[in-house]
Amino acid sequence: MTPKIARFLAQHPATPCLVLDIDRVEANFRALMHALPQARIYYAVKANPAAPVLERLVGLGSQFDAASFEEVSACLAAGAAPEAISFGNTIKKVSAIAAAHQAGVSLFAFDSIEELEKLARHAPGARVYCRIRVENEGADWPLSRKFGTTVESARALMLRAGEMGLDPYGLSFHVGSQQTTTAAYELAVARVAMLFTDLRDAGVNIRMMNLGGGFPVRYRDEVPEIDRFGDAIMDAMTAHFGNALPEMLIEPGRFIVGDAGVIAAEVVLVSRRDAGDPLRWVYLDIGRFGGLAETEGEAIKYRFTTPHDGGPTGPVAIAGPTCDGADILYEKTPYRMPLALTSGDRVELHATGAYVTTYASQRFNGFAPLAEHYV
Ligand SMILES: *Cc1c(COP(=O)(O)O)cnc(C)c1O
Repeated sequence: MTPKIARFLAQHPATPCLVLDIDRVEANFRALMHALPQARIYYAVKANPAAPVLERLVGLGSQFDAASFEEVSACLAAGAAPEAISFGNTIKKVSAIAAAHQAGVSLFAFDSIEELEKLARHAPGARVYCRIRVENEGADWPLSRKFGTTVESARALMLRAGEMGLDPYGLSFHVGSQQTTTAAYELAVARVAMLFTDLRDAGVNIRMMNLGGGFPVRYRDEVPEIDRFGDAIMDAMTAHFGNALPEMLIEPGRFIVGDAGVIAAEVVLVSRRDAGDPLRWVYLDIGRFGGLAETEGEAIKYRFTTPHDGGPTGPVAIAGPTCDGADILYEKTPYRMPLALTSGDRVELHATGAYVTTYASQRFNGFAPLAEHYV
């Protein structure tokens, strides 16, 4: 926790709330820029679209990966130039394509002939890039099946794009979010680089490789340092392209904002489902529907602190406050919490700056959405 966040929490703001340190966002952006100086950073807005985050990133010269016209608008409102925005969702409403094109956005993703036809019609002349499906092994929050196409079909689509009056600008992939292995990038680069060279040989004026996001944040477990990802990516790129490197883009979301945020929550109840059961259930005033959607399948394992840390602990299951059976954060993952923990205690959930505020439901059981404080 940063000193700014600690100071803010010392004032006991109402829970549940997210407190996010914008200076940490800046530090993360700079660390990534340092790890991969050859790449242009397109922040994936969905990770946390709050205006203070976007505004700080605009000031740092970041560019933006938007998934909807609403996200495009949020970037423009934060001061981003339309040329700094990539419309990176491969599934876009026609009205959103037209509105983004009208606003001056000229970079769009696709992974199907149907989407390419929509782009040719509603964003004529735009730069387009095709998303390739790659392995998501090693990712705690995979994205694989829903997006991307095969190398063979990407080749045909990129050739078609030029014939349709679009600019066949590049290729992209995403190795899955919270990707904990550098090998995932190496494998993906190898796969996509081959197609890149092949398309160049076929006369396509392809210039860009978009390496997506996925860079991990430290939750309970250690993850490799960001420099290790940078080195692995640059080694793979130079192995395949030598000195003729294409333009490189990255789309980090989680890495930029994840460890900048802390959630403060209140313990609503600590109880045992069965008398004598060593397992206690800890119910918090935030759960799956309060924004902790990435606990689905216990995929993302947040780190907790409590006022009784250091004292004796016992096994716990951790759940949210709603009347829904799915509102369990952790039941299989072995979590332990202090035996002294009791209702009314405040706990902190660390590295919760990414993918939380946007997942919060509106008023399930009447609970207000997560409060957000940017400091
Ligand atoms: C979600 C997403 C990202 C960001 O992924 P992280 O794992 O948060 O870095 C980047 N690009 C695309 C296309 C995405 O959908």
